Amino acid sequence: MTQANAFSGSLFMVVAPSGAGKSTLVNALLAQEPAIKLSISTTTRAPRPGETHGKQYYFTSAEDFVARAAAGEFLEWAEVHGNYYGTSRIMVEQQMKTGTDILLEIDWQGARQVKKQFPQAAGIFILPPSIAALEERLNKRATDEPHVITRRLLAAGGEIAHAPEFEYAIINEEFSVALSELSAIVRAARCRFAQQAARNASLFAQLGIHAE
Ligand code: GDP
Ligand code: ADP
Ligand code: 5GP
Repeated sequence: MTQANAFSGSLFMVVAPSGAGKSTLVNALLAQEPAIKLSISTTTRAPRPGETHGKQYYFTSAEDFVARAAAGEFLEWAEVHGNYYGTSRIMVEQQMKTGTDILLEIDWQGARQVKKQFPQAAGIFILPPSIAALEERLNKRATDEPHVITRRLLAAGGEIAHAPEFEYAIINEEFSVALSELSAIVRAARCRFAQQAARNASLFAQLGIHAE
């Protein structure tokens, strides 16, 4: 088995400015596609009302986060909106080795770090239909303090500036359209030759197909 197909699962990275609808889209995708596993990040942000440790995030202190980052526990980590966020390396690598598809909801800085280690990772950028819609969604969601919303809106332009680094762009205007586009990307990635060959090794061998 070559290094390239040691990981038979597909890796997806969903990136968006805060309020674009990333989590809502990802949750709807996971409800349709239970085979995809969402990586739960570790963060130093305080839990929002309704958020539970181990569900949306693993919540921790800055001291603990920094020590774990120094120990190499994170596949990627970044400071976003004044808090640290990181993805567990062991979780992602173990799942991908067993053929499980993994989805990361991370920021653009993290996506860059992942792409260097896993060039086959599919990068998907979610765009809002307008900045006004972003503001309206953040206010309507009402999970953040007004000064946190202001900070996130100010950061949105800087994040959107990185959209051209991604292979896929989805405009989340009509939710059902955006969801079907996200689902189409996932299905197409699963049909990539390398992914099919890794998942169906015995069939490919029977058919006399030998990977390059
Ligand atoms: P949201 O913007 O409303 O989804 O708010 P969050 O507080 O959940 O996320 C804040 C930012 O941190 C977003 O840009 C996320 O994509 C990013 N983020 C979350 N988890 C991670 C992670 O594990 N690594 C990195 N690099 N960024 C993350
Ligand atoms: P993010 O994870 O990108 O910060 P959320 O998924 O929390 O964003 O979405 C922000 C808010 O916008 C939520 O209240 C969500 O219900 C709403 N929302 C998401 N997609 C749409 C859409 N297409 N049209 C209108 N509102 C939306
Ligand atoms: P929120 O605080 O609203 O949950 O997330 C804010 C931002 O942090 C979002 O853009 C989210 O994608 C990003 N984020 C969440 N987890 C991670 C992570 O593990 N790594 C990176 N790089 N960004 C993350």
